[in-house]
This record gives sequence, structure tokens and C-alpha cells, in this order.
Amino acid sequence: MTAPSSLKPRLSLKGVSLTYQHRHGETEALRDVSLTVASEEFVSIVGPSGCGKSSLLSVVAGLIRPTAGEVRIDGDLVERPTPKVGYMLQHDHLFPWRTILDNALLGLEVMGRRDAAAVRKVRSMLERYGLGGFERYYPRQLSGGMRQRVALVRTLATDPEVLLLDEPFASLDYQTRLALEDEIGHILREERKTVVLVTHDISEAIAMSDRVVVLSHRPGTVVAEHRIDLGLGTHSALSARNDSPAFRTYFAAVWKELDVHA
Ligand code: ADP
Ligand code: MG
Repeated sequence: MTAPSSLKPRLSLKGVSLTYQHRHGETEALRDVSLTVASEEFVSIVGPSGCGKSSLLSVVAGLIRPTAGEVRIDGDLVERPTPKVGYMLQHDHLFPWRTILDNALLGLEVMGRRDAAAVRKVRSMLERYGLGGFERYYPRQLSGGMRQRVALVRTLATDPEVLLLDEPFASLDYQTRLALEDEIGHILREERKTVVLVTHDISEAIAMSDRVVVLSHRPGTVVAEHRIDLGLGTHSALSARNDSPAFRTYFAAVWKELDVHA
């Protein structure tokens, strides 16, 4: 894997702060977060529950305006949602009344791009991601891991350059989670996507990423960053956990950083 840091940043956050205003006062969710992500880099953001991880992704997606600071993609200020960004939420949000094919086509449909070519493309993606033959099924007929794959196909079908993943594996059982981390990690690297994954799972972050950014308790702010080199020559979430002595070292370091700032 070449060092993506030599490339110009695909995504940059500069001094991003976010305070929610609500009826009973305000909640400071993020404080002065600065971060750059290179093209094709896979960055994970770990932090305790409630520290502002989802808020951060919503700001990057252009769904929430930061109170201070700015987000840029390819140098352009993000002020509203853009097709350059795909956002996959923790829960799969598939529509129960739509078939797998129709769910996977939703993103393209919303963009007014559902045509014969789009259907062909999505069918072949479903096939590739192990969902061939399930096109006419409904979400309730699929396992949690399969539904998450459908959600990923839906997100990737619009061909975003930057992919934001919000705890995509959190609701899955341990076995499925490991398998899916591996599989989705491979897919995203093959597709050469720039990825920001947020998770509270330290192992997941280390196993999947080129770099791990550690956030403090709320208000979330960057307390540490680790460039991950597991010495494996390949990215596999499973072998990262099993075959890399460096894995434990990173784990201990991140664990401590999260604890220190608790
Ligand atoms: P995380 O994803 O790390 O668990 P969130 O970004 O969801 O954290 O939330 C960070 C903080 O902001 C929490 O205290 C949460 O209650 C608060 N928060 C999130 N969304 C809103 C909102 N729309 N209005 C007010 N407060 C919010
Ligand atoms: Mg969250």
C-alpha cells in the first residue's frame, strides 16, 4: 500500500466546533476538530459513546452546519449534502416494503438516475457482494449482515468519492461483524474509496484502517492519532487481530488514551 499522505487531502476539517441549541440550553458536541484525510485513505474515528462521532459525520455530510470552522472536500467548502459523499448510517434503514433490488436502487432513484443501466449496475453489485439471487426478497427475509451489505450497495451505487460509515457493524453479532469488516474492508479498498469510519470499537478501528483518530469525551476533540502498520502486507480484519503483534500495542495505546480522557 502506497502512503496516501503524499497526496493532497480529499477531505479536510479545520477548527470544527458544534454546539446544539435546544429548549433546555445547549450541548457542546464538538470542539475545534481539525483533521485531513487523503484520497483513498481509510481513517477510523474512535471515541466514547456520546462524544460527537455521529455529529461529526453529519457535519462532513453537509447535513449540519458547524458552529465554527469549516469542512472542505477537494478544496470546496461543504455547505450542503453533495453527491461526492455517501453516508451509511448505523441502522440499515432499508424500506421493509421495497425489495432488495429496489432498496439498493434508492440512492440512484432519488438522484433521478434510475434507468436500465442503473438497474444492470446495481444487479451486478448485488451479485458481487454476495446478494445474487436475493433481488426480489424483502429486507425481513435477510440476515443483519446481508442487510448491511444491501445498505452498502445502495450507498456505493451512486459512486461517491468519500464514504462515511457510522458504526456500520455495531448491531451485528461478533462472528458476522468480523466477517463483514473483512469483506467490506476489501471492497472499499478495491473500489479505491476514501473512507471515514466512526466506531466505539477499538479493535475494529485498528483492524480496518490506515489511521485511527481518537476523540475525547464530549465535547469531542482529537486527543491522539495513530498511523496503523500491522506489518501484514495486506489488510485483513481477521488476521490483523490474530497474526499481528503490533495490533495489541495499538490497542493498548488507544485504550489508554480513551481512559485518560474519561
Ligand atoms: P456519538 O455518535 O459519539 O454517540 P452524537 O454525535 O450522537 O455522539 O452526540 C453527541 C452529543 O450531542 C450527545 O450529548 C447528544 O445527546 C447530543 N446531540 C446529538 N444530536 C443532537 C441534536 N440534534 N440536538 C441536541 N443534541 C444533540
Ligand atoms: Mg453515534
